[in-house]
Amino acid sequence: MPGTPHSRAPSKSKHGNREDSPSPVILFALLIPPYLCRMLTISQRGNQMPPSPIRKLVPYAEAAKKKGIKVYHLNIGQPDIETPPAIIDAVRHADIKVLEYSHSAGNESYRRKLVQYYKRVGIDVSHDQILITTGGSEAIMFGFFTCLNPGDEVIIPEPFYANYNGFACAAGVKVVPIPSRIETGFALPPIAEFEKVITGKTRAIMICSPNNPTGYLYSREEMEAVKDICVKNDLYLFSDEAYREFCYDGDYVSAMHLGGPDSHVVLMDTISKRYSACGARLGAFVTKNKAVYDTAMKFAQARLSPPGLAQIMAEAAVDLPQSYFDAPKAEYQRRRDLLVKRLNAMPGVFCPNPGGAFYAIARLPIDDSDKFCQWLLEEFNYNNQTVMLAPATGFYSTAGLGKNEVRLAYVLNLDAINAAMDCLEKALEAYPGRM
Ligand SMILES: *Cc1c(COP(=O)(O)O)cnc(C)c1O
Repeated sequence: MPGTPHSRAPSKSKHGNREDSPSPVILFALLIPPYLCRMLTISQRGNQMPPSPIRKLVPYAEAAKKKGIKVYHLNIGQPDIETPPAIIDAVRHADIKVLEYSHSAGNESYRRKLVQYYKRVGIDVSHDQILITTGGSEAIMFGFFTCLNPGDEVIIPEPFYANYNGFACAAGVKVVPIPSRIETGFALPPIAEFEKVITGKTRAIMICSPNNPTGYLYSREEMEAVKDICVKNDLYLFSDEAYREFCYDGDYVSAMHLGGPDSHVVLMDTISKRYSACGARLGAFVTKNKAVYDTAMKFAQARLSPPGLAQIMAEAAVDLPQSYFDAPKAEYQRRRDLLVKRLNAMPGVFCPNPGGAFYAIARLPIDDSDKFCQWLLEEFNYNNQTVMLAPATGFYSTAGLGKNEVRLAYVLNLDAINAAMDCLEKALEAYPGRM
């Protein structure tokens, strides 16, 4: 095969000095086209890591926008409420000479400030029980890394926040789902369901209240029941409380408001939703269990420190009057009321009234929510407008569940919600897979 790279490589080296020139084998290897190179592999864990189910529709939304169609984004929990200017000003006016690493647990001044915040919401902790993290996301990861071995199991009522799958995968942990049902508004599944799936490998139960994606707000009885079963079975109780400020019906009950031993409880917190500050990347890992805290601290030390500018911002946020939350909360509640009313007025649609957060799950008269959400973007428009929703399948881990459900995030103003609901109403009439 004269002229092909494969025949040239060995013949060239024949004329060279054996000491100086690279061996024919190496030359040969260099001439193998990179796409045939099989030496670099991706880790098993990397291959198993689930992509975000919410983002997979993004290319279809972009294509719709290129066609000039307006897309109402009810698909993602990015709040549109303004970040309080006072907390951004705190960063602007900070006297910074060197933007240093902070303490690995976060600035002590901020942690002491947070003690006041937690006191206001009825949680009694000290600054050395709070570890500041890079978003609630890192707090959840620290929880998995600290409390579970690879192969261990965490029980989570489904549908649940889809990124838990990613964190579990990163930690080699298995998520064991137990279904909550739309008929009950996604209330806590009966405790017997938990008992059925507890094995020798179960280490934790994870809950989120008010819930993303269902908006369900757990009652005190439900929270007590989860805590009891954790204490009885020596399990950790992971409590994701990202939405505590947004409870519309009923009181917020924290995992740290309950009776019984505190050692089981790990609270995962974030300022992202509280102050509409998702880009600050600041959260907290809170526990009274010293061994858990000290171990999480080692993970915190390895990543050196949480974001410095965000801590200045968040420290100022604790000084906002409690009344700061009145306006955002009232706004979300108006949106919820409108959204739920509009949904339930559509033939064949059922949407339970969510007690908190800014999400709702609705059951639609459709064959397949993944297909429907794609169809909304690819094939449908009403007066050149359409709506982007999240198929609920991405929030269930049991295959087949959520096929006729979608999640809606009410992070748009009332006019936009009305326009989006007009689109959805027309779309359900036109959709070929209507059931
Ligand atoms: C947004 C969110 C988080 C994580 O938020 P961060 O931006 O990483 O602080 C965690 N849990 C739930 C349920 C969320 O909705």
